[in-house]
Amino acid sequence: MKAITFQGVGDVKTEEVGDPKVVDSTDVVLRITTSAVCGSDLHQYHGRGGTLVQKGAIMGHEFMGVVDQVGPGVRTLRTGDRVVVPFSVSCGHCEWCKNRMPTQCTTTGRAVFGGRFGHVWGGGQAERVRVPFADYLCEKVPAGMSDDDAIFLGDILSTGYVCAENGGIRPGDTVAVFGAGPVGLLALQSAQLFGPARVFSVDRVDYRLALAAEFGAEPVNLDGGDPAEQLRALTSGRGPDVVLECVGHETPFTQAIQAVRAGGTVSSVGVYVETSLGFPAREAFFKDLTLKMGICNARNFMAPLLPLVQRGKLKPARIITHTMALADAPRGYAIFDKKEDRAIKVMLKP
Ligand code: NAD
Ligand code: ZN
Repeated sequence: MKAITFQGVGDVKTEEVGDPKVVDSTDVVLRITTSAVCGSDLHQYHGRGGTLVQKGAIMGHEFMGVVDQVGPGVRTLRTGDRVVVPFSVSCGHCEWCKNRMPTQCTTTGRAVFGGRFGHVWGGGQAERVRVPFADYLCEKVPAGMSDDDAIFLGDILSTGYVCAENGGIRPGDTVAVFGAGPVGLLALQSAQLFGPARVFSVDRVDYRLALAAEFGAEPVNLDGGDPAEQLRALTSGRGPDVVLECVGHETPFTQAIQAVRAGGTVSSVGVYVETSLGFPAREAFFKDLTLKMGICNARNFMAPLLPLVQRGKLKPARIITHTMALADAPRGYAIFDKKEDRAIKVMLKP
């Protein structure tokens, strides 16, 4: 089959690799119908955080498809079922999975499809993928729901939603979202479900801020100066009640803490690949703020968010700017990384 493989920093390629097969009885193999490039793939692409996946590893953790082979121990799925899968590989029955923290699964060693955090598992930017613990991991997609509407349930829509939910937004609050990439834009859509009076979107990429404005945000361009100062100026000196951090670097994390009002909440879903980072601890302490951060347990949110997409209350597909063949994936990575050709979300079709 064709798959996107990691070759080195800034280098992925589309190549022929062996087809995945059912190994354990609870596995399925999916024929992938759509996959996507995620901001988390870029950390790997940039070689951030030291250890890299092996050369030749199959990339990608955002994918969906049709069940093609079914292990003998699978109870709820049949050949031909359309399913979407979360980015983390979890068993569904260890202590962590039972306590709604499948990203901490001890059975799989916190594996992520195509990932290098914990154990490495073959990724989904390919024609096929092996999905273990299939009864637990696969969410059936209702007939009539498009791939573009369903696929983000497995990662960035759930992540954006949990970022907003962890912010504890109350009706009438002022919210600032750092990052107008795919995750920030979906955190912004999700924030609107909680009834804020004002939402700001902070970034420096004009065309991304323009889409944030379409989703009801007031744009704040980083090129206009320190974002914490800009946000205070826009809120009568007070600062936003809730800041959603959707970038994953030290600078926006610091700016989020600086921007939030005293007693406010910073909710962060950006991935920090480094083992430690600088943090304005004194300011956070004296502001008496609440900080929530972490990986998204996407499996928990797929079924509850699905009807919100079906009913148009969340419109995740609106962020898609490019749909390419697998063979064009190296270009897809490059334009998403460099923000060329007005790229926001790049989809891959086998
Ligand atoms: P992206 O790289 O396209 O988006 C990041 C955006 O942040 C860009 O538009 C960039 O211009 C902007 N930015 C850079 N510096 C900034 C600053 N100081 N202030 C405000 N904006 C700034 O990526 P994405 O797909 O949107 O992903 C965003 C982050 O979410 C990544 O770190 C990714 O790894 C993470 N993520 C986390 C989870 C999770 O489980 N917690 C899941 C998916 C993605
Ligand atoms: Zn992701």
